[in-house]
Amino acid sequence: MSIAYDYERGSRTTSYLTKPLQLLIGGRHVPSVSGRTFTSLNPATEQAIATVAEGNAEDVDFAVAAARKAFEGPWRTMRAAERGTILLKWAQLLRDHADEIIELESLDAGKPVSAILRQDLPAAIDTLTYYAGWADKISGEVVSTRDDALTYTVREPVGVVAAIVPWNFPLMIGMWKLAPALACGCTVVMKPAELTSISALRIGELALEAGLPPGVLNIVTGPGRTVGEALVNHPDVDKVTFTGSPGVGRGIMKGAAGNFKRVSLELGGKSANIIFDDANIEAASKAAASGIFFNTGQVCSAGSRVLVQERVYDEVVERLTERARALRIGDPLDRATSLGPVISERQMKSILDYVDIGRNEGATLVTGGQRAAARGYFISPAVFAGVTHDMRISQEEIFGPVVSVIKFKDEADALRMANGTAYSLAAGVWSSDFGRVQRFAKRLRAGTVWINTYGYTDVRLPWGGDRDSGLGREHGTAALANFTEPKAVWMNLAV
Ligand code: NAD
Repeated sequence: MSIAYDYERGSRTTSYLTKPLQLLIGGRHVPSVSGRTFTSLNPATEQAIATVAEGNAEDVDFAVAAARKAFEGPWRTMRAAERGTILLKWAQLLRDHADEIIELESLDAGKPVSAILRQDLPAAIDTLTYYAGWADKISGEVVSTRDDALTYTVREPVGVVAAIVPWNFPLMIGMWKLAPALACGCTVVMKPAELTSISALRIGELALEAGLPPGVLNIVTGPGRTVGEALVNHPDVDKVTFTGSPGVGRGIMKGAAGNFKRVSLELGGKSANIIFDDANIEAASKAAASGIFFNTGQVCSAGSRVLVQERVYDEVVERLTERARALRIGDPLDRATSLGPVISERQMKSILDYVDIGRNEGATLVTGGQRAAARGYFISPAVFAGVTHDMRISQEEIFGPVVSVIKFKDEADALRMANGTAYSLAAGVWSSDFGRVQRFAKRLRAGTVWINTYGYTDVRLPWGGDRDSGLGREHGTAALANFTEPKAVWMNLAV
């Protein structure tokens, strides 16, 4: 999809960010009940860019009540085609405001504008358009049971949904949750990550402009421990859809047990990108570099373990290193920048700690792994060679621009290591042997397998993993099942 993008830096966002950003509850912008606010920083400059309302459990109560009212009122009873039309109008408004949204997301999350233009915004718009199309096509079926009865199923929206979103793709992952939930007739209380609340609030305004009735989408900004937990524990929330870390995901499953909320979880990853010696090494190395360094490595499906067959190991390390060194680190608002900062000082320290851990474990740091600017959370992309399967840098999610290159002998060795972590989100395999890649597609424990490519996602295909990578699937028809429940209806024909 091509999006018109023609911004002059600061032209539109300046006015949006000068006023304190408020919660969105019941179709109105309101301050938090406590009156408290927090500051959002630009990770590229460490400077404050916005003041954001800090919600708490009381704000969550108001938001859930507004969502319940809108669910029982206009939204679930509205003609499904009309719901779809509103969502399509919203998608058009996202296109019309592309320059402003891209800039806000870049300032708040430190993402290069080129990446938001290519990935985040088009994916968000695609998702919205795809599910808008589904709104009037969700139906049950007539099932033959007995001669004297008409028996059929209908699919009903689950009710009020809590959508809890991480900071690495605030706009795109936010929309992965909002679009199917709203298309199915659910209403939503959304909690963006506290580090990246701005784009959610802006697109929430555009949703109202598109005609979304008050209370259908509510946004409560603030910390996970207060706003997030209040949502998860709320007795009037019917479903939690969460993307984030496995630790928080575990707590969400426990919290949701109170009223047996439905839960879907998209969690972490430590994905293997496997390169056999009969692969196209140039293409594989290029994809391996973008597979780990895209979004500064802050990607759940990042190919953070590159498994390479012995004969081509040195060559792949060399090519990856060249590509890492060639990445252009810099101002995310500059279209030529390919690598932005990581999200926060805390994240930066955690990544640099992992670089130390890797060194201490005996891996060889071939390039990068250092703070790359005095100001802003920039890290030079790191390539570790000589990594073994049991090292912590090979097992734990680093969530930064650090790749571990691991040597393997044969298929059995590669498969054992690829499947040998707590995660199962995605994997890639590179080989010109058709039988081999098919064997791997079958045997890799991963929700997505890429063959001779890496990193694509599409709203039409299911997305998710099991174990520490989560529970359930997003996207496609799987998401429709997440936000609806089937009901069986029996009608006696004999009276
Ligand atoms: P996080 O778990 O710290 O936070 C995610 C969201 O949960 C934030 O909005 C946060 O405020 C909220 N939260 C924090 N504590 C909470 C609590 N006790 N109760 C309820 N909500 C709470 O994750 P993060 O650091 O924002 O994101 C990084 C993680 O997300 C990584 O592990 C990454 O792999 C994962 N991720 C997964 C996918 C996927 O599709 N599988 C996509 C992106 C990110």
